[in-house]
Amino acid sequence: EEVHQQAVARARKAFETGRSKCLDYRIMQLESLKRLFTERQKEIADALKKDLNKSEVASQLYETMGLEGEINLAVKNLKSWAAPRPVEKNLLTLMDTVYIRPEPVGVVLVIGAWNYPWAVTIQPLIGAIAAGNAAVIKPSEVCVHTAKVMEEFLPAYIDKELYPVVTGGVTETQELLRQRFDHIFYTGNSMVGKIIMEAAAKHLTPVTLELGGKSPCYIDKNCDITIACRRVAWGKYTNCGQTCIAPDYILCESSIQDRVVKNTCLLEFYTENPQTCTDYGRVINQRHFKRIMALIDDSTVAVGGQNEEANCYIAPTVLRDVKPDAKVMQEEIFGPVLPIITVSGLNEAIKFINKGEKPLALYVFTSDDKVIQKMIEETSSGAILANDCLVHYSISALPFGGVGNSGMGCYHGKFTFDQLSHLRSCLIKKLNMEGANTMRYPPHTPTKLNRA
Ligand code: NAD
Repeated sequence: EEVHQQAVARARKAFETGRSKCLDYRIMQLESLKRLFTERQKEIADALKKDLNKSEVASQLYETMGLEGEINLAVKNLKSWAAPRPVEKNLLTLMDTVYIRPEPVGVVLVIGAWNYPWAVTIQPLIGAIAAGNAAVIKPSEVCVHTAKVMEEFLPAYIDKELYPVVTGGVTETQELLRQRFDHIFYTGNSMVGKIIMEAAAKHLTPVTLELGGKSPCYIDKNCDITIACRRVAWGKYTNCGQTCIAPDYILCESSIQDRVVKNTCLLEFYTENPQTCTDYGRVINQRHFKRIMALIDDSTVAVGGQNEEANCYIAPTVLRDVKPDAKVMQEEIFGPVLPIITVSGLNEAIKFINKGEKPLALYVFTSDDKVIQKMIEETSSGAILANDCLVHYSISALPFGGVGNSGMGCYHGKFTFDQLSHLRSCLIKKLNMEGANTMRYPPHTPTKLNRA
């Protein structure tokens, strides 16, 4: 416990020196952080290979490239993001200077998940640095090798007093959570999200919760099924299904189910033997392997199903005619398993979606604009995409985050900066021109009102 307390205390002390408030210092830290990704690319990729069997291309494409982009954006725009933001005034304050001043909040705690360990841990950190905060970084212990790389290299590239890395699992995180922070940024599952919020409440610490859940995918019969299924398969099987915004399950009419099954493109992507394909990942550990295998044993496997516990391999799997009360429909799958549930059409699909918790992402595939509009109009989710999966994540101008059970708060680009800033209201008035104020002072005579 002492180690954590000290790290937090040191971060606060470093914050109080004021150096993180200097814009040039923030930029220098961000540039240096970016160098880590090029200079330590090999260590990063090796660890990701060991943790998740990520290929080198995948580790750049899905982890570090996006981070470099976010750093470039922050560096380029920091001056304008951090600048006072003048606002529209009213009659009473017309002569005053009125603006919003983004200010650092203090010490931020960033708790990362394991599925894209760099992306989900460092992206909030980028915003914390840009906004002028100190940050305590707690990578997921589940990615054993990556956590070590972060612990070893982050302090070599960024201010280790301002941005300390602390490692550990549940016990250590809960100890950490007893400390007082000014913001907690958590990525992970919704159950733990509740634990985080409860701990934060003790200090009235605001939280951002980037959670998960079952993201539905409706495939309309009026649609190019080949293209739709290829895009869905990419969204599902990337990182072996361990993506917070992966399409969790498919809803479609029974008349197209066979074509959906046939078109999931698994051969094209991962060859006849995905187990030897370098582009196909692994389930993170045996606990999750067992969990996923147990989810499918009461459903019908249409494609895949092969597995090998010793190396956490589960073949890309499609389940057909899945019942809404099947085990695989009771929790976020977070593995390479794609259940298909048949519905009578769009209306039933919408009903089905609205019966569940509000998802992080919602996907609809169709050639019919009316179907898209109806889906947007009649559902709620963190994000909604028509005719593609995942790609909204890459747009820094879109707020990324959930709603309801899939989370609260949002980030990416300027949203991260704002999320981790205090938007302080400022009003500066002169002491002269008191005449203009007389009408607001008592006594409140009717004449004053008439004048107003
Ligand atoms: P995880 O097991 O790595 O847990 C996340 C973090 O919480 C870790 O740092 C861990 O140490 C900590 N933790 C775990 N149990 C705890 C406890 N009892 N008390 C305090 N801290 C605890 O990751 P996970 O939760 O398995 O991650 C997968 C989930 O995260 C999925 O639901 C996925 O959808 C979601 N996710 C969401 C996003 C997003 O951006 N919204 C991104 C990635 C993952």
